[in-house]
Amino acid sequence: MQTTSTTETIPQVVARLRQSRMTGKLASAAARKEQLRRLVAFSRDCETAIIDALHADLGRPAFEAFASEVVFLRSEAEYAISRLDRWMRARRVSTPLFTWPSAGYVIPEPLGVALVIGPWNYPLQLVLAPLVGALAAGCSAVVKPSELAPATSALLASRLREYLDPDLVVVVPGAVEETQALLAERFDLIFFTGGETVGRIVMEAAARHLTPVVLELGGKSPCLVDASADLDAAARRIVWGKTYNAGQTCVAPDYVLACRPIVEPLLDKLKGAIAAFFGPDPRQSTDFGRIVNQRHHRRLVRLLEGGGTVVAGGKHLEAERYFEPTILLDPPPGSPVLDEEIFGPILPVITVENIAEAVTRVNAGPRPLALYLFAQDRATERFVVGNTSSGGVAVNHTILHLTAPELPFGGVGASGFGAYHGYASFQAFSHMKSVLRKPTWFDPAFFYPPYTKDKVRAARRFL
Ligand code: NAD
Repeated sequence: MQTTSTTETIPQVVARLRQSRMTGKLASAAARKEQLRRLVAFSRDCETAIIDALHADLGRPAFEAFASEVVFLRSEAEYAISRLDRWMRARRVSTPLFTWPSAGYVIPEPLGVALVIGPWNYPLQLVLAPLVGALAAGCSAVVKPSELAPATSALLASRLREYLDPDLVVVVPGAVEETQALLAERFDLIFFTGGETVGRIVMEAAARHLTPVVLELGGKSPCLVDASADLDAAARRIVWGKTYNAGQTCVAPDYVLACRPIVEPLLDKLKGAIAAFFGPDPRQSTDFGRIVNQRHHRRLVRLLEGGGTVVAGGKHLEAERYFEPTILLDPPPGSPVLDEEIFGPILPVITVENIAEAVTRVNAGPRPLALYLFAQDRATERFVVGNTSSGGVAVNHTILHLTAPELPFGGVGASGFGAYHGYASFQAFSHMKSVLRKPTWFDPAFFYPPYTKDKVRAARRFL
């Protein structure tokens, strides 16, 4: 059996978390807020260490590491702290007339002990933002960061316990073996972020214990560019979304479907945006990250070589895990770059006749995690939003929708199920318990046997 950072075995860790849960350590809002404040303190005190770890793992520019991991975590935690009292309150609901007199209410209770499994691309944010939801909801949690981001994983394992109560949160670093050992245990919720293949493994393991799961998966997020789009803004925002973290973002625009009349000007502006962001040689830019490892680098080279006209970029250097921002025009049907999630800075641009054709193409594939539309025309916006299904939509931008805490973030169909961020995180880790209270002073014989003919007649009339 693998050991954890606390030298306990995994079953012991889970048993201890379950035990501490029974003692009601996180019963009060004050106790939950205290843990969340400590998480904020971790993000402040360890800011430099976090940025350094992300640079070691992903060559992540300091600005991106700060914005998308440190600030994101902090604002999720602060948002939860500011709203927790309201979220924890029982909510009164109306009850049907035949139960009169009665009162109904819904009271959130913690699901229990959660397992949070994360991927490597935002290795801190994607385990600690769900943890905010777990702590806000009153759950204890095992956090399993990705082994493919070893510096961040080591940082979490060594530093987080200085801040959070070790009876409530334990970080278990490790790879497949450790995750499998964790999945053999019974949890009350498994919150998984990663790919579809492992998502299935997680769900199978969860089924053995009838444990509910939230699956935050990936896929190919399309980006539709209408003839009415502001092309300067579209190009800037598409390139930003595609090159942020070197394209290794679950909601990166995977490919562009561009209406024929604007394809040429769009390509020019996309090339212009790449040059404006990273200069003539993005390899020299400190604002452009690296591919996580050589295996993924080789995967991207294979996608590049699978077809399509290279209209920008195309250079790569495995030793440096460098992959230039690359635009591919009209890869032939069946090319791997059109079938697989790209997860890197390659942007296929596919020509379509009109937005209706773009919608048909999107609807022919699995339902994506995000869909992007660039259009100034509101009727086009209504048409696309109303006729496609995706986890979320951003109109005239990319990625940004996931930063709004009031917008639940999650997939649909093959991109996963369940959602989080803001109140949705609290809900994800809570059981919404229904309670109906009835006084005893009114108890008509009408509802009890024997069910006489008169009662049946009255029931037909009044119920
Ligand atoms: P992954 O599925 O390979 O790994 C995720 C986690 O599962 C890791 O912690 C890993 O240790 C564990 N794991 C790997 N193999 C396992 C196995 N056989 N049994 C048990 N556990 C195992 O995902 P990844 O490569 O780290 O991340 C990339 C994927 O994640 C992409 O598809 C991306 O779109 C998706 N993603 C989704 C979101 C989202 O919010 N929806 C966010 C980021 C990434």
